[in-house]
Amino acid sequence: MQAHAGEVPEYLARLEEASTELVPLADDVAEFCSALRGDLHTHSDWSDGGSPIREMAEAAIALGHEYVALTDHSPRLTVANGLSAERLERQLDVVAALNEELAPFRILTGIECDIHLDGSLDQTDELLGRLDVVVASVHSDLRAESAAMTERMLGAVANPHTDVLGHCTGRLLIPREQREGRRQRPRPESAFDAEAVFSACVEHGTAVEINSRPERLDPPLRLLALAVELGCQFAIDTDAHAPGQLDWQGNGCERAVETGVDVDRVVNTWTADELLEWTAS
Ligand SMILES: [Zn+2]
Ligand SMILES: [Zn+2]
Repeated sequence: MQAHAGEVPEYLARLEEASTELVPLADDVAEFCSALRGDLHTHSDWSDGGSPIREMAEAAIALGHEYVALTDHSPRLTVANGLSAERLERQLDVVAALNEELAPFRILTGIECDIHLDGSLDQTDELLGRLDVVVASVHSDLRAESAAMTERMLGAVANPHTDVLGHCTGRLLIPREQREGRRQRPRPESAFDAEAVFSACVEHGTAVEINSRPERLDPPLRLLALAVELGCQFAIDTDAHAPGQLDWQGNGCERAVETGVDVDRVVNTWTADELLEWTAS
């Protein structure tokens, strides 16, 4: 009500007062950020996000994005209301209608697809082939021993449908609230042979995600530096579950600048057409 009346809400004023250590992005980070044209990892209320697709798209437009990939969860992730093949098919129709309305902005169709224990992906081949962007992520058995986790990730990275390897270590730096009052505790990185996995990413043209969520900041800097050294491509994503979170790319850009990521190797600095040519290849 205070905001609507044109006032600065008391709550916001208190937060700003208490957070005086917050500083704007450094110039080089801001410049890096300005090269980004979109975001390849976002969720709507179709899975565990809090907002309708349209609201996410409108927030992305307000940020100046040219496109955003809608990557709701796959069926196996029932705690996150993962989409069955039927629901995903319905979502594709909804996105197609929204795209007609919102053009030239583009919602890219997509999925954040669970990586099964055997390295296969949690959606039909046919549907994965129809999507613009496939982010593949590990969400279970995060404490598996390194050899098994490495095999699992290698399987997903080599899958021709996979475009982006999501939050590769699965670490959580701080506790977080989830749907229905669930609370996740912090957890360490998964163990895997990062050199083997990142080398496979180079070989198969799979981008390594720089996940900008403050509780993830994944990969950790030492692994990000290794991925840079090995010649990986990157996607700087927010993994936003709400419209305001689409603004988190600065976190990822900060880490990209710190580790010397070449801006041309960040796939979401490309135009939608260039990006789609790459994901289709
Ligand atoms: Zn995820
Ligand atoms: Zn996600």
